[in-house]
Amino acid sequence: MQDNHDRKWPGEPASPKGRVWQDPTRAVHGGPRPCDQRGLINPPVDRASTIIYDSVEAYMDRHQGLYDEVIYGLYGTRTTFALAEAVSELEGGCNTVITSSGTSAIALALTAFVAGGDHLLVADCVYGPTRKFLTDVLARFGVEVEYFRPDIGAEIAGLCRSNTRLIYMETPGSQTFDMIDVPAITAIARSRGILTALDNTWATPLFFKPLAHGVDISLASATKYLSGHSDCLLGTMTAASDAVYRQLKDAAARWGNCASPDNCYLVHRGIRTLDARLERHQRTAATLIEWFAQQPEVVAVRYPAHPADPGHAIWKRDFTGASGLFGVQLDGLTPPETSSFFNEFSLFQLGSSWGGFESLAVPAWPAPIRDFPNGEADGALIRIHAGLEAPQDLIADLAAAFARVRALRGRGQAS
Ligand SMILES: *Cc1c(COP(=O)(O)O)cnc(C)c1O
Repeated sequence: MQDNHDRKWPGEPASPKGRVWQDPTRAVHGGPRPCDQRGLINPPVDRASTIIYDSVEAYMDRHQGLYDEVIYGLYGTRTTFALAEAVSELEGGCNTVITSSGTSAIALALTAFVAGGDHLLVADCVYGPTRKFLTDVLARFGVEVEYFRPDIGAEIAGLCRSNTRLIYMETPGSQTFDMIDVPAITAIARSRGILTALDNTWATPLFFKPLAHGVDISLASATKYLSGHSDCLLGTMTAASDAVYRQLKDAAARWGNCASPDNCYLVHRGIRTLDARLERHQRTAATLIEWFAQQPEVVAVRYPAHPADPGHAIWKRDFTGASGLFGVQLDGLTPPETSSFFNEFSLFQLGSSWGGFESLAVPAWPAPIRDFPNGEADGALIRIHAGLEAPQDLIADLAAAFARVRALRGRGQAS
């Protein structure tokens, strides 16, 4: 067999460093060039625990390579670093740490920078498990967590203390889709030397660039849109500076967090079609929302791209698109109406997570965990993920669900 090690592979697309591509091109070509991975278009899957060294000197020095070399499987193989490079290019970041899940990325980013006695400011609309981590874990280590209203803007200055270490955001917020004025908050954080982190899972770096808006750490559950196929879990932490990257990488190493190379490969492959998928998710979401808005049972739609949404102005100013996840507030469903609505769909499925190719519909109950409920207790909040199916088929499925609820209500009035 011919040994291909010395073969010269075609070098284009050109050097990834400093290239001036648009995001769709970056998604398609992001990461190492084919010529740097023996002609392969996507990175090879390198599975490893042990990595061997050719001298005792190199072995003794190996830990200096933690941040950018393959030194031990736990800290990443070529497959991991390739994905980190592709994500960094999209986020416009200095470097990225890939973690085992979105939840682990959040937990690691929070623990990397805080210590007992520190004060943490957290947006009230964060993902439920983020809140559980803060309450169940960080609080036990003596970190003081204070939640702020998502619409606080520059008034966050009034909550900052001398021991405030980090401001943590997520926008649009989980379940209620609240928009946060990110530049107003990062301006104050920077002037006081407070770090900021933001969960960018909903928008992906194609529709929002946290680092360009002053955020220090952009976090994502790559399980959602980056993967796009509902079959793997991964998280990303992208840093604005090398110092922040190193601290994140140290945290992942010390906690023993490992991203599976197979999942890194799947997510890298998913990123190739991210732009095309998101365009379709966005278009279908707009079609479904237009339909929902015409149903008399619909009290409100929660989607910042919708002109009636309270966060629309901020979304329009800072974001370049909207993904396929939104909330629909109904006028209230009785338990039998809820069962009939959700249990008999033919296409929409009931399940956690989102961002895959398939449509989902789940009930949401954010009020019990919020410090500042904003009306979500009235009526029934439904979270919809607009998948890649034909919009007409999705609308037929939704129309049947509304018809079932109307039939139950008609029967109630008749008796
Ligand atoms: C799903 C989700 C996460 C957690 O991601 P996993 O990969 O499932 O751990 C974090 N943040 C947001 C906004 C999410 O929707």
